[in-house]
Amino acid sequence: MDQPLKCVIIGAGPVGALAALYAARRGWDVQVYELRGDLRDESTTPLNFTKSINLALSERGINAMRQSGHPTLLDTILADTIPMHGRMIHSQTSAGELTEASQQYDVHGRFIRAVDRAKLNAVLLDELESLSNVKLFFHHKVTGVDFNKRLAWIEQKGLSRRQSDDNGHAAKPSGRPGRPDEIEIEFDLILGCDGAHSSVRFHMMKFVRMDYAQNYIDTLWCEFTMPPADTRTSLSPSAKDGFVTSPNHLHIWPGKDKMFIAIPSTDKTFTCTLFAGSKDFATLEADPAGVELFFNMNFPGAVDLIGPGTIQKQFEQNPHLPLISIKCSPHHYGSCGAILGDAAHAMVPFYGQGMNAGLEDVRVLFERLDAQPSTIQGRTTALTAYNAERVDDAHSINDLALANYWEMHAGVTSPLYLLRKNIEEFLSDKLPSTGFATQYSRVSFSNQRYSEVVKVVAQQKRTLMQGMLGAVLIPLSGSIAYLVWRFSGHDRRASPFPHLVRILTGGVRFVTERIEKAFR
Ligand code: FAD
Repeated sequence: MDQPLKCVIIGAGPVGALAALYAARRGWDVQVYELRGDLRDESTTPLNFTKSINLALSERGINAMRQSGHPTLLDTILADTIPMHGRMIHSQTSAGELTEASQQYDVHGRFIRAVDRAKLNAVLLDELESLSNVKLFFHHKVTGVDFNKRLAWIEQKGLSRRQSDDNGHAAKPSGRPGRPDEIEIEFDLILGCDGAHSSVRFHMMKFVRMDYAQNYIDTLWCEFTMPPADTRTSLSPSAKDGFVTSPNHLHIWPGKDKMFIAIPSTDKTFTCTLFAGSKDFATLEADPAGVELFFNMNFPGAVDLIGPGTIQKQFEQNPHLPLISIKCSPHHYGSCGAILGDAAHAMVPFYGQGMNAGLEDVRVLFERLDAQPSTIQGRTTALTAYNAERVDDAHSINDLALANYWEMHAGVTSPLYLLRKNIEEFLSDKLPSTGFATQYSRVSFSNQRYSEVVKVVAQQKRTLMQGMLGAVLIPLSGSIAYLVWRFSGHDRRASPFPHLVRILTGGVRFVTERIEKAFR
């Protein structure tokens, strides 16, 4: 009988764990190597060194888990999520009154879900642990990969040789000089799911001409927590079910060049994030006593929901972290290596798509593998197809995520943005045959390729702008043309139509050309 394919997965975050489940389902011999300890163990330092991180889980991530072939997995994960039907925009009138305005995400009632990343990850790991063809190795750090020889080197952090052998490695010491704790493992296929600072990607670069670009944006983030209602006296008007404000919204306090958001958790707290420029952070770090005033000036009402006494402490205690955006190409090497998730496309978090896109990578990769014979040539074809599709899509969502920062902190209060959203939703709801849908709903509630979303939305925008301008300009220019015609000495009884038609077509052509130019 043929040996099962040996699939080595580096990184046991959400993407690596889901990739391992897909691989296991195919009967492969799966080994997962994770740098940190088991996150289900209390003593493990969580990712990014924050207590927890709440994420928006949407259709792409859900679909990837639905298609994993593990029937109860999705239900278990969804049972621990909270539906968020829209954004709640918090602001203040000029008279000082606090206001809340709900903006539904979707005219058809679809919603995103708040999920605790660590809990989601833990469910995936529990499922993996129940499978006999999967081995999980924590405290194992990949230190080198030779894609031609199909060998990887792994450092066992804090484990003795014997402990590791008992773990079932069937691996030998690497024998590389000065690396007594290192083992050497073989693979048929290695999947780098090791996050933004991926080691697999770094080693892949030595074997393939990889284009690579990383940017830190000038925005830092810091996490805060809003306690449950029973520990607070101050509640917002939409507070219910023991939460200090509505549990079914993603809350936004928009600011000119900064924002504060809050996402509900099942323990009735909110995990909140301050996004602000590095200058703001530097000012507050130099004078933390100013934190409360800064919040009161920029995010009215938020301090009372967090607790006036604790906001400064939280700012001082929680880390202030950067936001990185990474684009690279290709995402694979030959028949034996691919990168997925943040390793391939770390992005800023403003579209809530980083993890969703990473989970979608897994679905697409395995669909391409399933479409080919299980041979080296078949895998080369599959990985090439994965790469061709996902590089474009990763670049597209990366750009959309950057652009969405504007929408979240400024667009949500811009009349033009709201007008366009309303028209698109109206057309989507009342005239579905037009195919109109907002960009947000295409990204969050569909599995349409990100690169297609960008194209379709650009076309939609052109059509809408033409329609909106036409609706205003055609009657306006008609009236002007008529007046010009009348006051230039024409007899009222003569027909104005040939003249009007000439002026109107000229006007429409002029406007269309300007719009085309603006959107090119
Ligand atoms: P990671 O979660 O980074 O996991 C990588 C794993 O690899 C880690 O466990 C790490 O320890 C391990 N590793 C690293 N190096 C090695 C090595 N050398 N050897 C072995 N193991 C290694 N996404 C959303 O979809 N929705 C959201 O609402 C959202 N909000 C976000 C908010 C913030 C503030 C931030 C920062 C991110 C947000 N994201 C969101 C993005 C999301 O967190 C990431 O996209 C997601 O965690 C990526 O998963 P991953 O498995 O690819 O990588």
